Amino acid sequence: MDVSKRAFNFCAGPAALPEAVLQRAQAELLDWQGKGLSVMEMSHRSDEYTAIAEKAEQDLRDLMEIPSDYKVLFLQGGAIAENAIVPMNLLRGRTVADYVNTGEWSKKSIKEAKKYCAVNVAASGEDRGFTYIPARETWKLSKDAGYVHICSNETIGGIEYHWTPDTGDVPLVADMSSHILSRAVDVARYGLIYAGAQKNIGPAGLTIVIVRDDLIGQALPITPSAFDYKQQADSDSMLNTPPTYAVYIAGLVFKWLKEQGGLAQIEKHNIGKAKLLYDYLDQSRFFVSPVDRQDRSRMNVPFKLTNEALDEEFLKGAKQRAMVQLKGHRSVGGMRASIYNAMPIEGVKALVEYMREFEAKHG
Ligand SMILES: *Cc1c(COP(=O)(O)O)cnc(C)c1O
Repeated sequence: MDVSKRAFNFCAGPAALPEAVLQRAQAELLDWQGKGLSVMEMSHRSDEYTAIAEKAEQDLRDLMEIPSDYKVLFLQGGAIAENAIVPMNLLRGRTVADYVNTGEWSKKSIKEAKKYCAVNVAASGEDRGFTYIPARETWKLSKDAGYVHICSNETIGGIEYHWTPDTGDVPLVADMSSHILSRAVDVARYGLIYAGAQKNIGPAGLTIVIVRDDLIGQALPITPSAFDYKQQADSDSMLNTPPTYAVYIAGLVFKWLKEQGGLAQIEKHNIGKAKLLYDYLDQSRFFVSPVDRQDRSRMNVPFKLTNEALDEEFLKGAKQRAMVQLKGHRSVGGMRASIYNAMPIEGVKALVEYMREFEAKHG
C-alpha cells in the first residue's frame, strides 16, 4: 500500500498506531522471524510467544520504570471490565471505596463499583460540566476506604491530571486508558494502574494492569478466576489464553517508544503537539476550548465551533483533506481531536492549518 494515502486519524479509540509498527507487523504477518507461522497462529505456551510476552513486559517496565514489587498483568475485558474487577480485588475486607468524579468515564466506574461496595464520591466536577479537576484540598475521603479511584485522563471531556493526588496510606487507583505512556509517571505513587490498550498502546482486546504486590490475594470469593489478579499473576497472565496478537503489537509499540527516546522524550513531543492546537484555539474567536487551562488534556482536545451550524461542513472539509474522526463524542457534541503518541506533529499542523483556513472563510 502507498503509505502517503494514510489519513491523519484523530479517533479517540481504537486509535492510530505508529506506521513503523504496522509495517513491521505486515512484514512479519505470514512468517514471524523465520518460524514459518504468524504470531496469531502460535501456541501461547510456545517458546516463541513466551519470548514475545516477556520482552513486551520488560520493555513496558523499562519505559515506565515500574518498581520490582509491582506485577504487570496482560488481561482482557477492557477498562470497563476493570470497573468491576478493581473493587472485587482491592476492597480487601473493607466496605467502602472513594471515587473522584471527573466525567463520563468516572461516572461509569462509580456506577459499576456500587455493585460491590459503598461508594463515596469524594469530589466531583459536575457543577461546572466536568471542565476541570477538583483540587485535592476539596476531596472528602473516607476513613477506611479500600482505595481511592481516579480517571487520570477523561477521554470524552478532555481533562487530565497534571499532578498526582496524595492519598496517604490508601492505595490510589487510576484508569489511565487514554494517556498511559504519553508522559512520565511515578508508578510508586499508585497502588494500581489500569488501561485498555486501544488508545495509546495497541489493538483493542488487551488490558494492562500494574498492581503492587501487597494489594493482591484478597479478592472477593465471587471473583471470576480469570479476573483474580493473584491467580493471573501466579500464572504469568496465562490462566486463560491471553490476547496474543494484541500483546505482540503492544510489544512493537513499546519498542518503538524506546526508539523515540522513551517517555521523557515522548512527553516533550506531546506537550509540543498539544500547545500548537491549544494556542490556536485560545487566539481564535471562531473555535473554543471548553476546558480550564490548567487541566487540559494533552491527548484529547475537545473544541467547539461558535456556529454549530457549520459542524458538518467542517467535518466534510477535514475528510477531504484526509483528516478523519474529528467528530466529538455524542454526549458533548462539537469536535474532538485525539492526538495520542502515534499522531505525528505534521497531523496537528495540518489540522491547525485547516482550522485557520476555515475560520478565514467563515469567521
Ligand atoms: C476508552 C476508555 C474506557 C473504555 O475502555 P473499554 O476498552 O471499552 O472497556 C474506559 N476508560 C477510559 C478513560 C477510556 O478512555
